[in-house]
Amino acid sequence: MGKVFVGRTTPLMRYNQDPMIILSGGTGTPKLLAGMRKIIPEEDMTVIVNTAEDTHVSGNLVCPDIDTILYLFADTIDAEKWWGIRDDTFATNEALRKAGRREVMRIGDIDRTTHIMRSELLRDGYTLTEAISELARRFGIGATILPMTDREVATHIATPDGEMHFQEYWITNAGEPDVLGIRIHGIKDAAPSDAVLAAFDNDDRVIIGPSNPITSIGPIIRLQGMRGILRKKHVVAISPIIGSAPVSGPAGKLMHACGYDVSSAGVIECYRDFLDTFVIDSDDLEISTSSGIGGVEIVRADTMMTSVEKSVALSQRVLDLF
Ligand code: GDP
Repeated sequence: MGKVFVGRTTPLMRYNQDPMIILSGGTGTPKLLAGMRKIIPEEDMTVIVNTAEDTHVSGNLVCPDIDTILYLFADTIDAEKWWGIRDDTFATNEALRKAGRREVMRIGDIDRTTHIMRSELLRDGYTLTEAISELARRFGIGATILPMTDREVATHIATPDGEMHFQEYWITNAGEPDVLGIRIHGIKDAAPSDAVLAAFDNDDRVIIGPSNPITSIGPIIRLQGMRGILRKKHVVAISPIIGSAPVSGPAGKLMHACGYDVSSAGVIECYRDFLDTFVIDSDDLEISTSSGIGGVEIVRADTMMTSVEKSVALSQRVLDLF
């Protein structure tokens, strides 16, 4: 996609809204947040972020989805790739490679400082929630960014070559192996963090951004008690699928492997028991809006966020639904 400018290029228009909870992965929902932060105060946003793609790289804990959200709000995100820091260098990664040590992810030098600080905080006894809060404070971020849980969970992909961590599947193997199944290790014992539960005590409006329903939103809604919490909230979700394909990433292959139709209707199936309103793309011809599906209200909008202006417009449309 084209470059999206995420700095404050337009004045902050105050939208009269109560605080919002947004469930997020690391690409589609951050694009939405890039628009939303232009129209509601950052302080009114609580972003609950997937941690099941987290992994250790060269001794440091990397939290890909959380870091994208941190860098978005810190105005340092590389908004062409939607990971890492704009204009970062890769000297350490390259020096390691020359020394025969290939990292599973290509980590930038400045990006790595976040991983070093986080890992140090964790070694000092901070929970992940506390460590992210401290990083957000150091980066001058007003939004509340919450890891979904403080427990360790890890998404693995079963392939004909064996089971592998999501990052090994998606980055090392470029998402090429056939997907036989998805396993989220540790999810059965994982509860939402206390901070996540407290956020739901205060806020009744929940947005599920256009993120992968299997590997980004899937782990969040599979936390203990989470579906029950969401059933009591006003939940609006945006489809990451247009027609029969995702806008980007492996969502199609993963949905298919989990037995879901690769379509907006398939995404509704993932969220059916708690979803109130579903936003699908104006060009999505695969789904009828006339009667809603299973009690879920369907609305259409331009959901292709190829510029920050389009992210703002979609955010406005979504906020108007509450
Ligand atoms: P990940 O953690 O990097 O996998 O990122 P997410 O799960 O947050 O986002 C990936 C999903 O976002 C994919 O399924 C994409 O189809 C979807 N996506 C990315 N950009 C857009 C966009 O501009 N519009 C819509 N509707 N979906 C998008």
